[in-house]
Amino acid sequence: MPPDSKLAPPAPPALKPAVDPATLAHRDLLGGDFWRSIPAYAQVSREEFLDHRWQAKHSITNIGKLLTTLEGLVSEGFIADAKGGFERAPMSVRVSPYLLSLIDWRNPYEDPLRLQFIPLASRLLPDHPRLDLDSLHERVDMPVPGLTHRYTDKALFLALDTCPVYCRFCTRSYAVGIDTEEVSKFQLKVNLDRWEQTFAYIRSRPELEDIVISGGDAFQLRPEQITLIGESLLSIDHVRRMRYATKGPAVMPQKILTDDAWTDALTAVVEEGRRRHKEVVLHTHFNHPREITEITQAAMDKLFERGITVRNQTVLQRRVNDSVATMGLLVHRLSYLNVHPYYIYMHDLVKGVEDLRTTLATGLEIEKGIRGVTAGFNTPTVVVDAPGGGGKRDAHSYEHYDRTTGVSVYTAPAVHPGEVYFYFDPIDLLPPSGQARWADPVEQVRMVEEARVAALAAPH
Ligand SMILES: *Cc1c(COP(=O)(O)O)cnc(C)c1O
Ligand code: SF4
Repeated sequence: MPPDSKLAPPAPPALKPAVDPATLAHRDLLGGDFWRSIPAYAQVSREEFLDHRWQAKHSITNIGKLLTTLEGLVSEGFIADAKGGFERAPMSVRVSPYLLSLIDWRNPYEDPLRLQFIPLASRLLPDHPRLDLDSLHERVDMPVPGLTHRYTDKALFLALDTCPVYCRFCTRSYAVGIDTEEVSKFQLKVNLDRWEQTFAYIRSRPELEDIVISGGDAFQLRPEQITLIGESLLSIDHVRRMRYATKGPAVMPQKILTDDAWTDALTAVVEEGRRRHKEVVLHTHFNHPREITEITQAAMDKLFERGITVRNQTVLQRRVNDSVATMGLLVHRLSYLNVHPYYIYMHDLVKGVEDLRTTLATGLEIEKGIRGVTAGFNTPTVVVDAPGGGGKRDAHSYEHYDRTTGVSVYTAPAVHPGEVYFYFDPIDLLPPSGQARWADPVEQVRMVEEARVAALAAPH
């Protein structure tokens, strides 16, 4: 069509409508003296509450103390239920006052933070028949006690076995915390000889470029231990990347703000790494947007000012964060604080927490729903850490997935070529026909075989 100067210029494109303020909820961080609503902390000043020593000293490490702190806040029925939960759970108890203050005690049964730390007997489900305690076979791939070398260029160093809190869903419940009646733990205490053996092994393996320092939890390392591990690893030429893994920022951000010796030790390792052109970062573990407060923001700002990169790994848990709305808010809020959402893990097969697991289908839906919420580099990958030692697989990369039996099959060509690995949805979330098959031991074997055959037949 020839241009026609008499025609009116085209109308400007309609402006995008202003967003609903509800979509900016990720910026509404809890502030003020929120802990004072807990009777036991009603008189605690801001200065005390921000003091990491106060938090550590008042962390609750036995069930009796926990239940006493909750008296008057929750019903007697709830207390009895929690007592029964701890009696049956293979875990140690440790809850920080900060965490306890973030739980909504008016609704303790449904609270997503309570669910992660305090088991209730009435909600426990039978374990999946395919569960085994060290489901990731971390101990099989250990050339030195406490060092898992599964992938070629990276290794996982379990430096110690204590944490600032104990989580119900912990994959390493075989090792962290003190022994409980249910589980006699594999010991991973701080032990300098064991650490020296670990450094010697890493030194002897030129292919190792990337070391994850975990546990347990790097928050529990003393400043001089942060330095010792950091300097020992940085001095190995072929080590190019290190990550200190800690749940600390999610459960006791006060430490970053007030434990100057610890934060300075970490900063010094990061700076020494930078001088040597090596990356040293912090990996943390937020699971729910309500775990992030103004105190967290101050702590993350401090790390950001020091040039310390923080990445986050989340565990997908039923009724905790198993919706697009909750996970989207978490991802948005972490991004706002300059924390990079890295992974969302499908919950490992761990003893005593079947009520927290959900289906692979849920993980896939969440991934679809949150991609596009924010920058691609802040969009986490949903992964399955394949039971049996296959390592992390992109949840979408299954060779086969049967939503009736809940069996999915993965391969890991770069890690263990030729092997197949299975993941299992929790049985109570399967359709009735799937549940009926799991009730029959003969069918259990058959379902796994069917899945193996289907996976091998699938086009590649
Ligand atoms: C998770 C993990 C790593 C690190 O894997 P990334 O995918 O690079 O985060 C290394 N070793 C083991 C045994 C692991 O489980
Ligand atoms: S902080 Fe990490 S290692 Fe410690 S109990 Fe929780 S999930 Fe396990």
